[in-house]
Amino acid sequence: MFLEGKRALITGSTSGIGLAIARALKAEGAEIILNGFGDEAMIAALCEELGATHSAANLLDVGEIEAMMADAGAIDILVNNAGMQHVAPVDEFPVDKWNAIIGLNLTAAFHTTRLAVPGMKQKGWGRIINTASAHSKTASPFKSAYNASKHGIDGFTKTIALELAQTGVTANCISPGYVWTPLIEGQIPDTMKARGLTRDQVINDVLLAKQPTKKFVQPDEVGALAVFLCREEAGNVTGANWSIDGGWTAE
Ligand code: NAD
Repeated sequence: MFLEGKRALITGSTSGIGLAIARALKAEGAEIILNGFGDEAMIAALCEELGATHSAANLLDVGEIEAMMADAGAIDILVNNAGMQHVAPVDEFPVDKWNAIIGLNLTAAFHTTRLAVPGMKQKGWGRIINTASAHSKTASPFKSAYNASKHGIDGFTKTIALELAQTGVTANCISPGYVWTPLIEGQIPDTMKARGLTRDQVINDVLLAKQPTKKFVQPDEVGALAVFLCREEAGNVTGANWSIDGGWTAE
């Protein structure tokens, strides 16, 4: 349990990849702070399971992020994971969706990071892990805001890795391909509409078409990679963007 005594805040951890990362860090002994939306009873059950606390902060609101970070105290491990998607052609892309996607997937990570870094520097140890995406390295049509936000988080991560290189704090991206989570399920109807396809065609011909393994990535595989990045042996891994995409971006 090499993370005993470390406090981890994982944004967007009431579901999907964030929850899997929270479970994986907890299994190594970290104290967990969850964040994200969801049914009250479901969140209470997660807090009990993980011995965690939960912040309901809406990360589109800077004031709520500041309050969450103040309540959290000194964070050793910050996982910027909350994210959203919208699929539409650029000339029909709703402006409010563009702003929300850039706000949640990119700007929120800037705010949590700027607020977590002073405490990490003081301790001389920290881990910043940003859930990016294969779409931080390559693009697909109809995802202009998402691709822009994920390419942006890659650049942001590299920048803070350089700034923090001599402080004991590392910053890395994890870039999954398609992971079977509610985010993926939620974009299937929009993709059916945007491309005029059936549900099975979207799954097999659009989503898994990209992944040479022809398998969805599993959330706990992403959790395991996050755990590795927290290890002492990963102290020289910084500014990297780790693909876990079944070979998608190798093409
Ligand atoms: P998900 O929809 O299952 O979970 C998203 C989480 O973010 C939830 O906990 C939700 O409550 C929270 N959230 C949403 N809006 C929020 C807000 N305004 N403030 C605070 N929390 C908010 O999604 P997921 O698939 O687990 O995705 C997690 C991350 O992984 C995202 O950044 C996503 O872009 C990235 N990702 C996902 C996949 C995939 O295939 N699922 C692939 C690559 C990257």
